[in-house]
Amino acid sequence: MELELKKLDLPSDNERPIVIAGPCSAETEEQVMTTARQLAEKGCHMFRAGVWKPRTKPGGFEGNGEKALPWMKQVKEETGMLTATEVATPEHVELALKYGIDILWVGARTTANPFAVQALADAMRGIDNPVFVKNPVNPDLELWIGGLERINGAGIKRLAAIHRGFSSYDKKIYRNLPMWQIPIELHRRIPDLPIICDPSHISGRRDLIAPLCQQAMDMGMDGLIVESHCDPEKAWSDAPQQVTPDVLDYILSILVIREEMQTTENIRALRKQIDEIDNQLIDILAKRMRISREIGQYKKEHGMTVVQTSRYNEIMEKRGAQGALLGIGQDCVKKIFEQIHEESVNQQIEVINK
Ligand code: PEP
Ligand code: MN
Repeated sequence: MELELKKLDLPSDNERPIVIAGPCSAETEEQVMTTARQLAEKGCHMFRAGVWKPRTKPGGFEGNGEKALPWMKQVKEETGMLTATEVATPEHVELALKYGIDILWVGARTTANPFAVQALADAMRGIDNPVFVKNPVNPDLELWIGGLERINGAGIKRLAAIHRGFSSYDKKIYRNLPMWQIPIELHRRIPDLPIICDPSHISGRRDLIAPLCQQAMDMGMDGLIVESHCDPEKAWSDAPQQVTPDVLDYILSILVIREEMQTTENIRALRKQIDEIDNQLIDILAKRMRISREIGQYKKEHGMTVVQTSRYNEIMEKRGAQGALLGIGQDCVKKIFEQIHEESVNQQIEVINK
């Protein structure tokens, strides 16, 4: 299904991307107003705050609900910033609209559930507010696009995607793996759909916000949604990942927005090199597979098993270390060789069963 989109038409400064900032949760009137005033003073045009919070376990702060909506209204009246909040049920949509919330977003846990997204879409029918759809918690591009299609199907044309990373069982540096190839593929599939990066939920750590913002800009993303709190350490939710409005302003001030035009020529030449190297890589892989099949023939004639565990471990360890020496992530090299090995095994099985 093709999306029918309209310009988002959100306020931004020329030299900066679209920025939406504000606390993870609307905790108290004072916290909301203090944070909002500080952000407005730094030139921020759009204010986010969670009114209903999807917590993993009950007992965490689940948001103030309707009680917080007049505070959001006050933010808008006093500072002129547009307001944004997460909606997860038709009732949330109705209440958010009643209090004049400008931008609605669908949270990652909700996007993962098509029933819930459809119910939201039905509740949104007829509105002209921008709606942002976060990626689902699981790395499933089709599910993300499906969510966007459901909302768009209800007539919402001012649509954007938020890239907030993907949940994984083994936590590494990031709280949610960025898996940049997924938003890149989304952009390839729907070029007119703006993509906003959420470095706060990707990183889970305030010290990684700045590099992630830069990376998002370097990948050509259209905007940023960043959690900012007047007193981050005391935040009732997501405390480790929030930054003060002051720090956020600094992060934004050092962002380098690269002009695509200037580098077109250089990039073209570099891409040509990449194409050539990729061709070589594929040739070399084909050569490796041919040898693999020969080994398969040998194993067949000598009654050996296809997978020889000690040999497999030796390859993984050696290649990982070699890669690390040359500045390629050890994990990345391991993954590549796992795939190569899997294909070799398949080819050998084919030879043996012939
Ligand atoms: C949030 O933006 O505060 C939030 C709960 O995000 P996500 O849905 O990405 O987890
Ligand atoms: Mn949060």
